[in-house]
Amino acid sequence: MRLPDWFEHPIDLGHDHYLSWWDSRQGGYIIHPSKRVQGEPCISGFDLRPSGWTLEKAEPVTLSPSLLCSCGDHGFIREGKWVPA
Ligand SMILES: [Zn+2]
Repeated sequence: MRLPDWFEHPIDLGHDHYLSWWDSRQGGYIIHPSKRVQGEPCISGFDLRPSGWTLEKAEPVTLSPSLLCSCGDHGFIREGKWVPA
């Protein structure tokens, strides 16, 4: 999977999933292979502001709850790794 040029400082989470923090660090994007269109990247995100996700640990990244993309991709980020749900 090719990462878009704007996807800055990608963190490799494994399972072909990459994290890119927003500049504000109040959230980030997750790029992953689409479950709908084979070979196409898909982008989801998370938001750490109140009512969003909780950053349980900054380094390595551990988030809760899980991330469910509209394409059907579902998993957790635990200890800096993508863990499929
Ligand atoms: Zn997706």
